[in-house]
Amino acid sequence: MLSVHINLKRKGEGISVDAEMVFEAPFAGEFSFLLAPKMDIKSISTSCGKNLTFEVLDGKEPFRQTNRIVVDLTQCTSSLQISYEGVPEGYHTTIGDDFFAINYYSAWYPDHISVGCKGLAVKFHNACYNHVVNAEYDTTGQFWQYVSMDFDCNILAFKNAKVVGGDMLKLLYTCGNDHAAKLHFDAYNQAAAFCMELFESSQIPKNTVAVLPKGNVRDGYCRKALIVLGGFNPDISAAGHLLAHEIAHIWCNGADVYSWEAWLNETTAEWAALLFQLHIGDEEKFNSIIAQRVQRAQGAPPIKTADGSRPDAVHDKGVALFYQIYKKYGQDAVKTMLKLFNRLTPKTTDAYIKLIAAQLGDGVADMLRNGILI
Ligand SMILES: [Zn+2]
Repeated sequence: MLSVHINLKRKGEGISVDAEMVFEAPFAGEFSFLLAPKMDIKSISTSCGKNLTFEVLDGKEPFRQTNRIVVDLTQCTSSLQISYEGVPEGYHTTIGDDFFAINYYSAWYPDHISVGCKGLAVKFHNACYNHVVNAEYDTTGQFWQYVSMDFDCNILAFKNAKVVGGDMLKLLYTCGNDHAAKLHFDAYNQAAAFCMELFESSQIPKNTVAVLPKGNVRDGYCRKALIVLGGFNPDISAAGHLLAHEIAHIWCNGADVYSWEAWLNETTAEWAALLFQLHIGDEEKFNSIIAQRVQRAQGAPPIKTADGSRPDAVHDKGVALFYQIYKKYGQDAVKTMLKLFNRLTPKTTDAYIKLIAAQLGDGVADMLRNGILI
C-alpha cells in the first residue's frame, strides 16, 4: 500500500502535476498505475533521485481513456516522484478561467495503483478560484488542500462561486443563475424527502451539489457527499428526475460497477427517480422516460454478459425489466424491490433474486431470472 500526495497546477488549458507516492515500507518489484494517455510523463524517480524507465500499455478501462504505466522498479525505494503535464479530457472535464473540473473520468492522477492506495491528497496551487469543492484554503502555503473522501479525486474550482443552502445541502454554481439555482435547490429537497421516505431513512448525509457552467445538462454523477451536474436544466422536471436518481444512489449502490452487476445500482436508482415522478404527479415525465428506455432496451444485449463485463445499455435494459414487473405487480412491488436491494448482502444478482423470491414470491423472481438473459 501507499499514499499519494499531489501538487497540482493549472497550466493554460491543461495541468502540471508533481506527485509523490509514499510506500508504507520500502518497496521493490512489480509496480504499475493508470494515467490518461494525454498526460506526458516527464520523469519517474526514486527517493534517492534515480530516474526510472517505464513501459506504456493500454489501460483497457471502461468510461475513460487510460494507459497502464509499468515502472521498472528493481531498486528498493521509500517513495516515487512522478512529474507530468497535459490537457485532461473526459466526462465532465473542463478547464477555464471561470471554472476548473477534473475527475476520475479525466484519469489525471495515478490510479488503480498495483500495490493499492490508502489515501490521496491534493494541493491545488491556483489562487484565482475563490471556491474549491470539499477543499480548505491554506493561507500560509497559499494552496487549496483537498483530501479524497471517496474512491476517486474530484477537483472542482469556481472563480465566482455562489452558494444556496445551508448545513445539509450546499448548491454551488457560477454567478448569474440565481433563479435556476433556487429551482434546482427546491427540486433536490423534494427528491431527497421522497427518497428518505421510500428507503425509510430518518436522515440524509450532508451533500454538496456542484453545477458546472458548461456541460451536458442532462448528465451528472454522484460521489460520497457530492453530486455533480453538467449544468442547470431549463426543464426543471428533468432536473428533478436526475437529482432523484443521484440522491437514490445513496441507497442504491454496492454492486460491482465494472461488471454486468452494475445494472442493480442503476435500475434501482432510476426506478426510485421514476417513482418520484409519480409521487409529484408528473405522470407525463414518467411515461416519456419509460418509453425512451424501453425503446433503447429493444435490440440491446442482455444484462448478463457471458464474460461478466458491463454491457452497453445496462440502464435501459434494467429499467425495461422492472417496468414489466411494475405492470404486472404494481408500484408497491417495485418499492419493495428497491428497499430489498438497499438491505441486500452481498450485492449480487443471485443474492437479489433469492431475496426477492423469499419476500415477493417466485413470480417476480422468475421474471428477473429470465429477464437478465434476454
Ligand atoms: Zn446512476
